[in-house]
Amino acid sequence: MRLTPFRWIWVLFLLPWVSSCTTPPQRDFADTLSMFEELRQQYDVPYSRMGFQKSPLFAFAKGKTQIVIDEAFSEGLSDAALRYVFVHELVHLKYDDPRRGYDLLKRIHQTNAKDTELMNNAFMTLLGAYGQDPEFKGFLDQVETRANHYAAQHLIDRGENPCKAIAEIEQYTGARFRFGTEDLCK
Ligand SMILES: [Zn+2]
Repeated sequence: MRLTPFRWIWVLFLLPWVSSCTTPPQRDFADTLSMFEELRQQYDVPYSRMGFQKSPLFAFAKGKTQIVIDEAFSEGLSDAALRYVFVHELVHLKYDDPRRGYDLLKRIHQTNAKDTELMNNAFMTLLGAYGQDPEFKGFLDQVETRANHYAAQHLIDRGENPCKAIAEIEQYTGARFRFGTEDLCK
């Protein structure tokens, strides 16, 4: 069959349609919520809210009760990788890591600061100023390792491969998500 220009136009229209049929469907919003709720109970986090928003940070725990996740990130991950992210962030809440990190930054600020412009003590401002402080980096390393140990163990207990989930998350985010799992995932 010779493709006349007219037929080519049809091919161009059909291609995106065919490729959209082969990509996996996005996770249902209700499934995401029920997965989160199941994990929240399993890890004994008394109360927490999950917020969906666009975020360059992809996922983070905030304050005492909040987890924020980038909406496209939550839809784009496999079930195992999303479980890994949820367990990781819930463990941060369980151990009060966001508040302890904030308190530590404020304390470092009080001992270092001559700059009164930082006195508003906004978390992101302090993080920008003292994120490289050795004591804070030590704290981060410790809490990230713990959160990843829980998340990896969660997948192992389900007979799933945590290293595959970590690789998927790192590929998506371009960020490091494997603190403390280096020995497990050589
Ligand atoms: Zn973390």
